Amino acid sequence: MDAGILDLAVAGTNYLSYHSVKLESDSASLPVLRTNLMAAGIEWLEDFEHEYSQDELRSFPLLRFGLTSQAEVRGGPAYGTKFDLSGACERCGTLARQISPLITDTSAIPSEWRFTLTLDREFLVSSEVADSFRSLTGVEFWEVYALDGTRSSWLQLISTTSMPPASRASKGLLQEDPCPKCMRDGWFHSAKEPVAFVYAKSAVAASLPDVRVTYERFGRSTLAQPQTDSHFAPPDLIVVSDVIDVLGDFIGDGVEFDPVRLV
Ligand SMILES: [Zn+2]
Repeated sequence: MDAGILDLAVAGTNYLSYHSVKLESDSASLPVLRTNLMAAGIEWLEDFEHEYSQDELRSFPLLRFGLTSQAEVRGGPAYGTKFDLSGACERCGTLARQISPLITDTSAIPSEWRFTLTLDREFLVSSEVADSFRSLTGVEFWEVYALDGTRSSWLQLISTTSMPPASRASKGLLQEDPCPKCMRDGWFHSAKEPVAFVYAKSAVAASLPDVRVTYERFGRSTLAQPQTDSHFAPPDLIVVSDVIDVLGDFIGDGVEFDPVRLV
């Protein structure tokens, strides 16, 4: 076996019991790694990402705003955060509206992080990051409470204005087994190609605020009794590309952007 290449994979980030390694797509190590993994009978997944420069990203009007760090903490209604179901799908709960501050296990989130997602994909940010967002419209920052009821230093980024449905020309999005009643959940990000939302220009109102959520909800919703066992499929966040300048140096702390095209 080629010395070091498997070690490279095993030394990568251990994320949810998977080892990951990041390589340039033209890296000479990549074909060797594939050959060695195959020979060793190890299954693997490949995720392709185009890394845009900040200038390239600025040339798009809108960006999908994603985070690369996810804490192993549940969010949603798991710990008693209240959701209003009056506008939600009665079958799956999609579009349930959070009406009380998030309660989550903040002790399990590394304190040096400035951004994180919960397992239910709430966006949590430090107060410095929230301050940098103040010039953008369409976003609120709600307090986040620890399991013992004390207020944490985290703030939850909340946006409620929805984009229209994405165009079928979008890339890297799949919908599988959505709720048959609302057809709104069941979206997934494909690992085979980068995510690139596309919208018909005519469908996107010019008056939308700087921060919006997608119409599409990712993962599957489950409406359960008690409500704490429910999961409400979250949207992605779409932001104006000015966010790059607003966030400045914070971008290096686990933020990722994918271009959004208007056609
Ligand atoms: Zn539904």
